[in-house]
Amino acid sequence: MSRGTILVTGGAGYIGSHVCKALAAAGWLPVTYDNLSRGHEAAVKWGPLERGDLLDTAHLTATIARHRPVAVAHLAGLIAVGESVREPLLYWRVNVGGSESLLSAMRANRLDKLVFSSTCAIYGAPAQQPIVESCPAAPVSPYAWSKLAIEQVLADCHTAFGLSSVALRYFNAAGADPEGEIGEAHDPETHLIPLLLEAAAGLRPDITVFGEDYPTPDGTCIRDYLHVADIAAAHLLALDHLLGGGERLAVNLGNGSGFSVREVIAVAEAVSGRTVPVTIGPRRPGDPPRLVGDARLAGARLGWRPAWPRLEDQVAHAWAWLQRRRA
Ligand code: UDP
Repeated sequence: MSRGTILVTGGAGYIGSHVCKALAAAGWLPVTYDNLSRGHEAAVKWGPLERGDLLDTAHLTATIARHRPVAVAHLAGLIAVGESVREPLLYWRVNVGGSESLLSAMRANRLDKLVFSSTCAIYGAPAQQPIVESCPAAPVSPYAWSKLAIEQVLADCHTAFGLSSVALRYFNAAGADPEGEIGEAHDPETHLIPLLLEAAAGLRPDITVFGEDYPTPDGTCIRDYLHVADIAAAHLLALDHLLGGGERLAVNLGNGSGFSVREVIAVAEAVSGRTVPVTIGPRRPGDPPRLVGDARLAGARLGWRPAWPRLEDQVAHAWAWLQRRRA
């Protein structure tokens, strides 16, 4: 018997589909709400799909009334930093406006528990590393501003009518389902690991390293890569926290160790057994030299411990997913 229903906005996306799988494994029924603008119907395998737009408050309200979820995991939104710089109004409308619409639909149904996909991008480029949650927010892109604005809306709704929420500030999501059922499939792909593996597989001619003149040991940017299954597990813990009456939180999700673009290339070559053709390009606007997360708060408050902290495992799972997708 199901423990109950969780509404998952963006459940057809990369991280959302892994959240749905983890929810189902833990006995929940995940109901995906997704407009399929960036997600994939084939990734919705563990519960029903309600095809709809986040900005359609009436449809969201009716969906919640029909399925009676006990909480919401809110992952729907736009995620491309570069696109957000070119199309800021789109990001404010979909991410912030869409979240307002969701919260209004929740309020109309007296549903008051929400886990939100936030991002380490809200910190900008802080000098202090690893980054702790008390580090001041300093977004440098409309994408990051939109996520920070939503965190503020959650705080305001807590004050006004007791909404309880956990904001999960992800560092760099990586890897794929260890069992190979789902994985990353963005179109267009902009993320380093899938691009590298597509180049290793001969699906693209090469990859461009965005800048080799950063103040890091090998001159390339350093990021904290985090397995998507560990992100999914954090959602479950956050839901348990909220359903157990836990306090409002905003916590980092990261491994606390950083890898440079050059180091990621070396791992991708080792895992695939292929050479990745590399071109050196200019810096990508808005890329800080180093982003590494301190996730001790998520450990202390939610009991979260990454099961797949090794970059080799993350890349190996992404490589297995790519092989399967091509087969
Ligand atoms: N990167 C790169 N070439 C690419 C894509 C990404 O050199 O084609 C670098 C990027 O500058 C960053 C790191 O790889 O330092 C991770 O980028 P990604 O887009 O995967 O995630 P982000 O850090 O933007 O969330």
